[in-house]
Amino acid sequence: MERISINTQPAYEVVIGRGLLNRAGELTAETGIHAGAAMVFADDHVAPIYLDRVRESFDKAGFRTAAHIFPAGETNKTLGTVEEMLLAADRENMTRSDLFVALGGGVTGDMTGLAAGLYLRGCSCIQIPTTLLAMVDASVGGKTAVNLRSGKNLCGLFYQPGLVICDPDTLQTLPPPVLAEGMAEVVKHGAICDAELLDGLRQEMDEAEMIARNVRIKSEVVAQDERETGRRQILNLGHTFGHAVEKLSGFRIYHGEGVSIGLCIAACAAEAHGLCEKGVLAELRDLLGRFRLPVTTRLRASEIAAAALNDKKRRGHSITLVLPVKRGRSVLYPLPVSELAGFIACCDGRVTAL
Ligand code: NAD
Repeated sequence: MERISINTQPAYEVVIGRGLLNRAGELTAETGIHAGAAMVFADDHVAPIYLDRVRESFDKAGFRTAAHIFPAGETNKTLGTVEEMLLAADRENMTRSDLFVALGGGVTGDMTGLAAGLYLRGCSCIQIPTTLLAMVDASVGGKTAVNLRSGKNLCGLFYQPGLVICDPDTLQTLPPPVLAEGMAEVVKHGAICDAELLDGLRQEMDEAEMIARNVRIKSEVVAQDERETGRRQILNLGHTFGHAVEKLSGFRIYHGEGVSIGLCIAACAAEAHGLCEKGVLAELRDLLGRFRLPVTTRLRASEIAAAALNDKKRRGHSITLVLPVKRGRSVLYPLPVSELAGFIACCDGRVTAL
């Protein structure tokens, strides 16, 4: 079992290892979280596969357990679903010293983290991610959110969990396209700061080792900038354009697919402007293609630029892009908003449509 410390305020650990789902209760008790009750939140895809095992492990560790199941899917990542979670916790007489357990993908993790932050003004939460994306990205760093009708993740809190438990065995039941979406984030981490990870992805890399490597990358960045005012923005590589592509497709293109296209746009533009050494785009395309992720889009660069500029996280007259500069290294690159469309126009015909 691998243990990785996340040095946020408060600090916590990510533990990674096969079979850890059966030890979730015991591992939680070891952290010193003195909750009487543990309420497990899972969607209706994950609950039939894993809920009983997780409840049993908390029972064995001496917790009173309860569970709440909600409908799966990004469209249910709403304040309405969170309100149902809070009402369920209230019905079970959960107190502020009790524990919320997120069992599932990033949607479950984001909503359970938010519900934990809101319930009685904050109770403890642990994350048990069951998708690759949630293991390498969403469960670490304390961002929680729901979508509003007007956009994704517009309502949320920074709320750190007390523990994250990753059991790579859970990935065996994941539909291949969902697994591939997680690989987009893994390739992203390699492109940001880890050329060795890119090498590893060319071979058969052990899943637990791959997850640990990604968690270490995310934890180092998050510890430097918990609230995303500076360095943490580096994790947005591929996301500015990726979100724009997702939005323009009416969310028919999934998040990981958008990130994959976004990575290609960033690399293509960086190379074309002489900011990045040649060959980075070709390698990213090859790696993403191996995981059956899209590397081109029928959208035009001008449409993508316009959608990217609607992003609420943009500040003032400048947009901070993240661009690769060489294999395994990316940098923040502020650009006046008036120049964005021109900056990525070179992608038309190479990543985007002519
Ligand atoms: P998800 O939670 O919707 O899971 C994808 C699908 O896989 C769902 O249908 C789910 O029921 C199913 N599933 C999950 N685990 C399974 C398993 N082991 N076996 C079988 N089926 C399983 O989506 P996701 O891709 O995990 O996460 C995407 C969400 O994460 C988005 O809402 C995104 O905004 C959020 N996110 C948050 C952060 C953050 O820092 N908080 C970072 C990245 C993404």
